[in-house]
Amino acid sequence: MSWRWGIDLGGTKIEGAILDDSMRPVIRERVETGQSRGYGHILMQIADLVETLSEKSGIPRPEMIGVGTPGRTEGADGVVKNSNTACLNGMPLGKDLKEVLRMQVAIENDANCFALAESRMGAGRDEMMKPGATAFGIIIGTGVGGGIVFDGRIVRGAHGIAGEWGHNPVPGEHAPCYCGRRGCVETVISGPALEAWYAARSGRRLPLREIAASCGRDEAARETIDRLVSSFGKSLAAVINIIDPDIVIIGGGVGNIRQLYTPEAREAIAAQVFNRSLDIPVLPPVLGDSAGVFGAALLAGAASRNDSHAGADS
Ligand SMILES: [Zn+2]
Repeated sequence: MSWRWGIDLGGTKIEGAILDDSMRPVIRERVETGQSRGYGHILMQIADLVETLSEKSGIPRPEMIGVGTPGRTEGADGVVKNSNTACLNGMPLGKDLKEVLRMQVAIENDANCFALAESRMGAGRDEMMKPGATAFGIIIGTGVGGGIVFDGRIVRGAHGIAGEWGHNPVPGEHAPCYCGRRGCVETVISGPALEAWYAARSGRRLPLREIAASCGRDEAARETIDRLVSSFGKSLAAVINIIDPDIVIIGGGVGNIRQLYTPEAREAIAAQVFNRSLDIPVLPPVLGDSAGVFGAALLAGAASRNDSHAGADS
């Protein structure tokens, strides 16, 4: 028997899990991130979590662990950039975790972990059985991100930014983005962007799910959701024209908006795709909150063995 260990390092909680050979979780544990107590505290929380997982499951510590976190990591030391857990930024998280945990550490951003877990264990399971299949896993929430999985592995790219479609330009859009440019996908179809657009038209502030629910009786709401669907279509088509994935999976809060899965939404994508037809599934995720920690575990590969089973598998 072999296991895969994963840690999902979030802004408020850190979750750990161990998956078995069949990619089923055998244990899951959570601790508070406590980011106000600083970077060193977060390292200790992760070390304690690994001990707890080992003690409670009876599975020996692994040789390698996968870690998912918002933001990007750069270089051999895994230096964190653009994380919303501010105390991680600029820190060599990969190198420090390797020292603290005394094991190999594979770090990826949360969108890549989402794409990996949903494509291999979740919504993309069947589609990704085909050799050479490609999945585009996207997160549309407070920000817009994405990850590409090819043949069961994350495509990182030369700059480590493969799949970051949230900062592609949307034609005709000019709102400033935190990245320093204007008109990025994120400034149009993120939850906060759509809520602000609705508020500017209606004079009311509502969460996006309520805007989506009141389309039938509220003109500004209908316009907001139309804007989401048409901009999503244009933006996704630009990605499809480059990587032509076998499946697209939409996570994040905006990914719950049912109007993204209608024939009209498919038409909005197809209208901008080079061959004018969209013949692939565009699906909501199925793993919920678990995608992050499961994706992290899949980074690690199945390397650790239980003593009682050592030698029983190849
Ligand atoms: Zn941007």
